[in-house]
Amino acid sequence: DAPGGAGAPIAALATARGTAALAVVRVGGAGAVDLVASRFSHPALATAAGRTVHVGWLRDGAGRPVDQVVCVVWRGPHSSTGEDVVEVTCHGGDAVAQAVLRTLYDAGARPAPAGEFTRRAFLNGKLDLAQAEAVADLVHAESRVGHRAAVAALRGRVSDAVAEVREALVETAALVELELDFAEEDVEFADRAALGALLDRADAVLGELLSTARLGALARDGVRVVLGGRPNAGKSTLLNALVGQDRAIVSPTPGTTRDAVEAEAELGGLRFRFVDTAGLRETADAVEAEGTRRARAAIDGADALLYVVDATIGLDAEERAFLDGLAARRPALPVLVVHNKADLRPAPPADAAPPSPADAAGAAGGAGWSVSAREALAAPAALDGLRGALLDAVRAGLAGAEAGEVAVNERHRAHLDAARGAVRRARAALDGRGGADTLALDLRAALRELGLVTGAVTTEHVLDAVFSRFCIGK
Ligand code: GDP
Ligand code: ZN
Repeated sequence: DAPGGAGAPIAALATARGTAALAVVRVGGAGAVDLVASRFSHPALATAAGRTVHVGWLRDGAGRPVDQVVCVVWRGPHSSTGEDVVEVTCHGGDAVAQAVLRTLYDAGARPAPAGEFTRRAFLNGKLDLAQAEAVADLVHAESRVGHRAAVAALRGRVSDAVAEVREALVETAALVELELDFAEEDVEFADRAALGALLDRADAVLGELLSTARLGALARDGVRVVLGGRPNAGKSTLLNALVGQDRAIVSPTPGTTRDAVEAEAELGGLRFRFVDTAGLRETADAVEAEGTRRARAAIDGADALLYVVDATIGLDAEERAFLDGLAARRPALPVLVVHNKADLRPAPPADAAPPSPADAAGAAGGAGWSVSAREALAAPAALDGLRGALLDAVRAGLAGAEAGEVAVNERHRAHLDAARGAVRRARAALDGRGGADTLALDLRAALRELGLVTGAVTTEHVLDAVFSRFCIGK
């Protein structure tokens, strides 16, 4: 191969660009060790055994020192990718790291496309596809729950559960196909009750996996909490108090917050994204009307709603109708009605301490909370009760998935859902609502969908979709 050609070793910066103590450049593929050795102060590196460490100077093509580096040599197949890999640790300045990279490209390496190292690990059987995706999820995890789910997937927890279903289906399929071969003799080899039990088991395990998809989505994308309510109710103040910083514009002029403003906070291991909205008021002002339209759109895309009410005014009929409509449209959406400006009201009787009874929320049925967002700006702990209630409300929709470690991603969910559909059709066929031939087809369809989760079945399209999510150097 020509230097830098298709078969050349790949090289990429594995660490983030910018100033740091150290940076790591990875070189991988056949000839990777020779390539680094050709620019290293100790040419014997070329014959180094795997899992050895070598300190020396990297020199450019003209022999000028580039940096003092540490090379860790990995020999295939006992490496992360299954091929020879050299990890070159250099000093962490961006100029140094880029000079090291340039030196290796000059020596014949080619830039590694995003995810290429992990893709090779998958193609060489070091990881299955669900584990390879977990590598990307781990790198991108921004919350404790997301981190835990990625670790579980990397350790093969998703793959193991899928393998369990696959085994049950392979066993069923083998029995059914045997029966098909003897179709004209009209024999039934497969014990119908045993087949049914296998399919039911597959259905149950798939159901458990699917029940973690919502948690997976929240762990990955964060929990989107929209603050809704009339202009001047105190939404922006509450948002600032909840996240402990000045993100939203607070103004005594109603209708000031015209664009959604976002801020983040971690709660219970999940990343919450609070979204402030313009007031939900019908108005002749075109700009504010647009803001109102966006507010409704934001609520439609929310995982939870904090509906803020100025307690000195209370909920009016229009707001109750809006909340009732929302409850009918999205019955599973957690809605917390927050009665704000409690500091302006006479103190409630002691037995009505927050959370105040749901009657405050009227027909909408959401739990009512009494707070002073303005006072909470200086005392963030004053909102801990509200934060806890919000977290509980979101968790209530997770079907207990948090108790486990597994949380499947959206790609898994789609294939697992299709697999379950096929398993259920197979179950129906078994119960006499279809012949053995459709039963066999359904079982094959289910196996294919499961194979797409772990990569036992793949297409270039699937691989490109999965690995495009990766960083360069991973
Ligand atoms: P928004 O339009 O719903 O976003 O309301 P803002 O957060 O902009 O607040 C409107 C006005 O109410 C501002 O003058 C705030 O300082 C005031 N305000 C907000 N929360 C409280 C509160 O808890 N108590 C009092 N007394 N005033 C508040
Ligand atoms: Zn506002």
